[in-house]
This record gives sequence, C-alpha cells and structure tokens, in this order.
Amino acid sequence: MAGLVAAARARELGAVTVVLEKGDRPGGSMLLSSGVVWRHPSLEEFQAECPGGDPALQRRLVEELDDALDWLESLGARPVARETGNPLTVGRRYDTRALTDVLVRAAGDVRLTTPFSEAEILATGGFGARLARERGLLLRANEWSDGDGLDYGVAHGASLSAGLDEFYGRALPGDVDEREYVSAAQLYARHALVVDDEGRDLGEASWHESDLVQRLPGGRAWYVVDARALLQPVRERTVADLVDAARASGGEVRPAEELPFALPESPRLVEPPFVAVRVFAAVTHTIGGLRIDERARVLDRDDRPVPGLHAAGADAGGIFTGGYGSGLAAALVFGRIAAETVSS
Ligand SMILES: Cc1cc2nc3c(=O)[nH]c(=O)nc-3n(C[C@H](O)[C@H](O)[C@H](O)COP(=O)(O)OP(=O)(O)OC[C@H]3O[C@@H](n4cnc5c(N)ncnc54)[C@H](O)[C@@H]3O)c2cc1C
Repeated sequence: MAGLVAAARARELGAVTVVLEKGDRPGGSMLLSSGVVWRHPSLEEFQAECPGGDPALQRRLVEELDDALDWLESLGARPVARETGNPLTVGRRYDTRALTDVLVRAAGDVRLTTPFSEAEILATGGFGARLARERGLLLRANEWSDGDGLDYGVAHGASLSAGLDEFYGRALPGDVDEREYVSAAQLYARHALVVDDEGRDLGEASWHESDLVQRLPGGRAWYVVDARALLQPVRERTVADLVDAARASGGEVRPAEELPFALPESPRLVEPPFVAVRVFAAVTHTIGGLRIDERARVLDRDDRPVPGLHAAGADAGGIFTGGYGSGLAAALVFGRIAAETVSS
C-alpha cells in the first residue's frame, strides 16, 4: 500500500514516479486485508498500547491519519464504513479491491513482476515472509515481502528500529488459502482456554490477541471453548461461526475429551460440550524495520538521514513496538509523508 500511496501523492505534487512491484498484482497485503484503516483514539492510548514505539512517529500517525483518510476520498476511495466496529479504535473501512484500483490509477506507472534494484522510497512491506520461514510459522500475508527493502536499507547505511523480533500475529487453523486469511482467523482466545500440546494453560490474551499468538510455544496451541463461548460475538460473527470456518478450511476441530492430555480447571470451561480447535501462529507483518524520522527519512546509526533514502509501511519499523496498531494507517500516513519529503 505505502508504495502506491507515495506515488499517488508525489504525482499530485508534480513528480514523475514509477512503482516497481515484485508481485504479479498490485496492492500487496493491503489487498488481502480487512481494509480497516485505524488509529488509537489518542496519542496517550497509542503509547500505552505500543510502549516501545517511537513517540515522534506515533504522534505523526495520530495527528495525520484523519487528513490522510480525507485525501484518500479526494482520490475517489469511498469508505464502506466510517467507523471500525471496535470502540477502542477510530477509523474507516474500505473495500480493498476498490481501494487498490483507486490507488493504482492515482499512482500512474506501476510495473508488475519487477523487483526494484534502486529506490528513493522503500515500501516492500517488511520481512514477514522471511520471519515466518526462519521461525517455522505460517505466513498470513503477501508472499513477496521478504525483507528486500530492509536489506537494501542496511546495505546503504541504515540503522534498525526496536522490535525486530516482533510481528503482528493471528491464529489460523492451518495453511489456508490467502482468500481465507480474514474469514478463517481464529480470533476468540479471550473466550477460550488456550493450552499447549501438554495441556498447559498459556494465559490471557489482550483484545487484539497478537501478543498471545507471538508467544505460542512452537507456534501452535489448542483453543478450547465451552457451549457459552460459542455464542459470543466476534465482530459481525460468533465464536461458533469461527469454529465452523476452521472446520470448513480443513482445520482440526474435535471434542475436548479426545485431546491426548487432561485439561486444567478453568473458569472458561463451565458448560459442556467443550470443543478444541488446533491453531497455528501466522505472521501478518513484521513490527521492526528500518529506522526513520518524522519525515520518513531513513536514519543511520548517528541519527543522520541516509542521503536520498526513505521508507514507509512495514519497511519503516518501530512505530508499533511492544503492541499492535494499524499497518494500513502507517502505510497511508508515512507513504504520504515520504512523497512530500522527496518532493520538497
Ligand atoms: C489478512 C490480513 C488482514 C489485515 N487486516 C488489516 C486491517 O484491517 N487493518 C490494518 O491496518 N492492517 C491490516 N493488515 C495489515 C496490512 O495489510 C499491512 O500492514 C499493510 O498492507 C502494510 O503496507 P505495506 O505497504 O508496508 O505492505 P504491502 O501492502 O504488503 O505492500 C508491499 C508491496 O511490496 C511488494 N514488494 C515486496 N518486495 C519487493 C521488491 N523487492 N521489489 C518490489 N516490490 C516488492 C509486495 O509485493 C507488496 O505488493 C492485514 C493484513 C492481512 C494479510
């Protein structure tokens, strides 16, 4: 997303742009996403949720997202909802196919299956594919974001942000098709007893559950729910719908008494029958990356801008360190800022 945004904004400011896209389609992970571009309601809440993040970058994201969303509309992107459906966040939801089409039109010259060899603005979507491969985890993202931007930045003198070992994670019932990345995600750990392969309780998850997913031993667990939990709402569906989605996508769903270990006592398991769903940690995107300043300039170890080099989206790290935030918002805000810096 960030590359398309940067090109669209730079063209608007009079630049001649070329977007080089490694994949065989534009839109990257944005195209696969739920399309909710959001922020925490205040900077204080953002900092409390992502305590290791760079406060200056967090401030710019909070201050500029609403203008950036209006700018998207000025390009022709119509939100399908003007709220996120989550009282903890503020933002708008888009149809990602329509948003991709608008951005490609505004970005102009977009060349597919063309990995970059030189770039002024790095926007390759981080290194989720590499992290998933190295850790033996599933990937829940476009397959092309493999750290090429990070490597290029480092080779040109960039320093790295905090949070290089962190990722935005979701639990999947298996290696599902990319069209099921949203619908098959198992997002109800807060209603479940979550145990490892020996039946040990893995503890509580925060509202976004990315913290729990990152700490699943061996990248796997069982989510065990009782009859009451199945009725709980999860966004516009219920836990029962999500369990059905796991089953439909070929995941392992079984009566809890068939598990090969005894379950610990839990206030979550009161009303039988108890159902167990096998889940696997999946990497959506990385949190750490190239260190940038508020103008999206890539910084070296001495805090000096690396001449001619900018980064946006998941290539720019350290915004959400220690927590979870909107990768689409970061791509939008810092993609625009990078274009403005290059054009100034
Ligand atoms: C299933 C799913 C649901 C999500 N839901 C949400 C949501 O609702 N809200 C939210 O905020 N975030 C969501 N996200 C995360 C969001 O999609 C990402 O944070 C966002 O797309 C990151 O933007 P980006 O520009 O950094 O990367 P991308 O959008 O992935 O774009 C990076 C592009 O760079 C290309 N590329 C990689 N390497 C090279 C190379 N060497 N040369 C040229 N091109 C290259 C890739 O092919 C890709 O097209 C979701 C993600 C997924 C997968």
